[in-house]
Amino acid sequence: MVYADLSPYEYCLPIALPDVLNVGWLDGSSSFSRGVVSPRLLEKLTAMLDAWPAGAGFFDARFNLVRGGHACAVCGMSGFHNPYVGACELLVPDREAGHYFVAPSLVVHYLSEHAYQPPAGFVDAVMRVDMQRPFDAQAIYDALVATQPPD
Ligand SMILES: [Zn+2]
Repeated sequence: MVYADLSPYEYCLPIALPDVLNVGWLDGSSSFSRGVVSPRLLEKLTAMLDAWPAGAGFFDARFNLVRGGHACAVCGMSGFHNPYVGACELLVPDREAGHYFVAPSLVVHYLSEHAYQPPAGFVDAVMRVDMQRPFDAQAIYDALVATQPPD
């Protein structure tokens, strides 16, 4: 599944969600921007994927968790150390811009192994995320989807 960076998010939805932008949806054939990425970005995203207690009152950016999970679209690797890699998406709030980014959890692998360079706005938003603040990505996503008109 390939979506251009900063395109409207519509994965598995009848119409795109407003104010939700794609980041890091790579496939094995399309080109993507590469570059040197701050190790702090990778550390932060990895921390956001680590097993925090789920539920209200805690920070949890993971949503759309699936069993099994996806292999890397670029190299085919699977069976990652962190079981959430390839098995969920990450919702990243950009409170200053008033929108969200959605990245596949494989973005940590794309950064570390394929030199994927995400858009600057995403990098800034990730670095500004306050993981001490309650955040329930699945509840936010469900509420956004609930605003969509029926089929
Ligand atoms: Zn890979």
